Amino acid sequence: MADDSIFHPDFVNRPYWWDAAPPEDARETDLPAETDVLIVGSGWCGLSASLELARAGLRVDVLDAGPLGYGASTRSGGMVSSGQKLVLTGAWKVFGEENAARVFETSQETFTFISDLIARENLDADYQHVGRFFGAYVPAHYERLKRNAELLSTRTGVTTRMVPKAEQRGEIGSDVYHGGMVVEDYCGLHPAKYNKAFRDAARQAGAHLHSHSAVRSIARTDKGFVVDSVRGRIAAKEVIVATNGYTDRAVPELRRRVIPVASYIVATEPLAPEVMAEIMPHRRMMSDTRRELNYFRPSPDGTRLLLGCRAGVFDKDPKDAAHGNLARIRHIFPQLARTRLTHAWSGNVAMTFDHVPHMGVSEGVHYAMGCNGNGVAMATYLGHQTALKILGRQNRPCIFDGRPFPTRPYYTGVPWMVPLATAWYHLCDAFDGLRAKAA
Ligand SMILES: Cc1cc2nc3c(=O)[nH]c(=O)nc-3n(C[C@H](O)[C@H](O)[C@H](O)COP(=O)(O)OP(=O)(O)OC[C@H]3O[C@@H](n4cnc5c(N)ncnc54)[C@H](O)[C@@H]3O)c2cc1C
Repeated sequence: MADDSIFHPDFVNRPYWWDAAPPEDARETDLPAETDVLIVGSGWCGLSASLELARAGLRVDVLDAGPLGYGASTRSGGMVSSGQKLVLTGAWKVFGEENAARVFETSQETFTFISDLIARENLDADYQHVGRFFGAYVPAHYERLKRNAELLSTRTGVTTRMVPKAEQRGEIGSDVYHGGMVVEDYCGLHPAKYNKAFRDAARQAGAHLHSHSAVRSIARTDKGFVVDSVRGRIAAKEVIVATNGYTDRAVPELRRRVIPVASYIVATEPLAPEVMAEIMPHRRMMSDTRRELNYFRPSPDGTRLLLGCRAGVFDKDPKDAAHGNLARIRHIFPQLARTRLTHAWSGNVAMTFDHVPHMGVSEGVHYAMGCNGNGVAMATYLGHQTALKILGRQNRPCIFDGRPFPTRPYYTGVPWMVPLATAWYHLCDAFDGLRAKAA
């Protein structure tokens, strides 16, 4: 029998972020018969494109299958990367050494872009420059992090710092890790407030946002496209698909190229200020080096802890998965042995077969997707780049644009192999742990 005492009486099976900014019902206006640009998906990617296009004077309609902001953009961990992922995972290598400098430059640019955008548009998103701590799960990972710190500072110019285990308590109130790495150029935000602020800005620029308007198909015509949605048909000159981990049968060619993987997050009840100050003294974003990594952070108001991970081999209800998340919290922070949870939720990240994001054109339709769990800055940036491309205003093509977008013959969009990959990662982590104990 599951232990229900881990749930606070106010527990809800819903994102913590939605308390401040829930997804929005916006179906009061009819869909138009025609539009200049139809955007599928009201996450940051779609909204970012809509803002730029509407500002340029085009008629823009954003359609979402659910309430506005129902996808990952209001469920996310809200950790804003300055471009580490492509470097740390080695994914940049698919671009070849000759393009490496451009890849690192663009990754960094996504961070500058989102930081400037939030400041310029005055978006209420609780944007905080706090840095990120990466904890070494086993001693060998500390050496790997050291090499990565070197790589990051030489290749991307970000400020990194190694924290030996003896000094770890200055960064995190835990003895679980074997030291770690700090990246100073790293931010956190409130994902749902960011989505809401983006919706407001897009509307102010003249974009039209429609919820509960699932797109069923997109057909090419001699004048553009006819988009069939559950609320009617629209003729559009251009279409952008910005559906990332929620890409469905409406675009089968793209669905075969992104693998939706559910990630599960919980929020604790408010913790005493002295406990928060002990466990996260600098209020940093945090994660560790496990293959099935834990990512965790304080809420923007610094009152509680949020932790996300892959919940197990098979998908489950977020409330059931919450037991596993809490076990991980208590493992990292034994001082939270009595802490209860107030929220649990999940959302889909979009993995790609080459581990890098893609933008491009498929059968005339623009797309930007495949953020591989690293989309706060990236999705915002790719949406903007797609808009610039349509407007003919790019200074140069984006490095993520127009590359082959791989799929596999065995994959049609149903992610049957995810449990196998998860089980493999689980085994590797267990093996790493055992090897470290034996050493
Ligand atoms: C739990 C979780 C934690 C994460 N943490 C981080 C993090 O800390 N840092 C980070 O950088 N990234 C993180 N990510 C990834 C990041 O949130 C995503 O990359 C980003 O939100 C993608 O934005 P998007 O606009 O491309 O897609 P989404 O926000 O997912 O929006 C896609 C939208 O498309 C709509 N849609 C799909 N099909 C249709 C259709 N046929 N018709 C109409 N609408 C449709 C969906 O309803 C959805 O609203 C996390 C993701 C998850 C799920």
